[in-house]
Amino acid sequence: MFENLSQKLDKALKMLKGQGSITEINVAATIKEIRRALLDADVNFKVAKEITDEIKEQAIGSKILIAVSPREMFIKIVYDKLTELMGGQKQDINIKGDPAVVMIAGLNGAGKTTFSGKLANFLKSQGRQVLLAACDVYRPAAMEQLKVLGGQIGVEVYTEMESKDAVQIAQNAIQYAKANNKKIVIVDTAGRLAIDEVLMKEIAALKKALNPTETLFVVDAMTGQDAVNTALAFNERIDYDGVVLTKLDGDARGGAALSIRKTVNKPIKFISTGEKMEAIDHFYPDRMAQRILGMGDVLSLVERAQRAFDEEEAKRIEAKIRKNQLDFNDFLSQIQQIKRMGNLKDLVSMIPGMGKALKEIDIDDDSFKPIEAMIFSMTKQERAKPEIINSSRKQRIAKGSGTTVQQVNNLLKQFEQMRQLMKKMNQINPAQLQKMKAK
Ligand code: GDP
Repeated sequence: MFENLSQKLDKALKMLKGQGSITEINVAATIKEIRRALLDADVNFKVAKEITDEIKEQAIGSKILIAVSPREMFIKIVYDKLTELMGGQKQDINIKGDPAVVMIAGLNGAGKTTFSGKLANFLKSQGRQVLLAACDVYRPAAMEQLKVLGGQIGVEVYTEMESKDAVQIAQNAIQYAKANNKKIVIVDTAGRLAIDEVLMKEIAALKKALNPTETLFVVDAMTGQDAVNTALAFNERIDYDGVVLTKLDGDARGGAALSIRKTVNKPIKFISTGEKMEAIDHFYPDRMAQRILGMGDVLSLVERAQRAFDEEEAKRIEAKIRKNQLDFNDFLSQIQQIKRMGNLKDLVSMIPGMGKALKEIDIDDDSFKPIEAMIFSMTKQERAKPEIINSSRKQRIAKGSGTTVQQVNNLLKQFEQMRQLMKKMNQINPAQLQKMKAK
């Protein structure tokens, strides 16, 4: 996502390279490029003009600091502006209440049902008791979909398949939550293909009846300018608390994130970047600005890793590494944990500098498949003691996993190198290591 904008800004900023000072003349071309890049990124025209005017004013007015180049200074100004434009601080949802009620609204296909599941999964991973309520009474398939998602993530789903009364279902769900010690009810509502009066009346009535602690409006970021218009229309009727931007994995432009906050004046609270239940993140304006400027998003990456990784398992593996006893069973468990973190390409794009580099490379979750297949083809003893794998065993493993002996050799070699590296690390005196960390 944002690759286009990030690349164009980079090009525009390169024009400043080597300039001794920022003046009206040498900044004009860069500003023009930035404005064009923003428009290309589907940012609302008024918003693009406003920010580039402000950036220009600020840049020209600023004294050049001796320590930084004009280009660096300009990047900082653009970064600050983008961060501010997208809301400044990360904003949490309100889940205080007994139970708290989170209502999810938006057009059909925006990703409401998927997001409801993701949010439930996200809150469950924080140890909260969650109930999903299926209130999309027009699409029985959506209720089924929610049930399936609930089953996948281990969250109970309240349904009344025969009922067409969304208000009644939601109220019953809340009663059910109270009786069953669920602290948060996520209400998935019905959408329409486009905004229409009947939908708006219904959703407004639902909000009035439920008086939710948090109302979230879900919108498909790929719909560009339409996203802004839909966001405005829903806000007029239900005055929601926050926006969820979905499908940012498929959107190379990302203009919606930049325009919605400024136009609707409601914070973006979550982003969704894929179909997997783990592909959900808080929206951090500063990190998003860093990402736009190609600085990566390491913090989000770390957070997602913390959610996906099992702490007990990590401790167990760490202990084995320390004793130099790592085997293929541990290796397999690590791969499975990485896979739980979500889409690989998406993850790698969060590492600074990798977004651009990755454009040409095809990396997907299937990359792990041959490795997993090879490990699955090993016997218990082979996994625990890879050194017993001789050439006939290699042939058997290759055959069993549909790979070649060469691939098996590579895997064994890499595994051995990893072990050697760990052995060396283990030889470092722990006190020395602490000192290195502190630096
Ligand atoms: P609803 O009609 O608003 O409930 O939308 P759904 O939750 O049924 O989602 C519509 C389609 O979009 C489904 O095929 C989802 O798998 C897909 N989808 C939802 N969120 C994302 C996302 O963040 N990225 C991608 N690529 N697909 C998504």
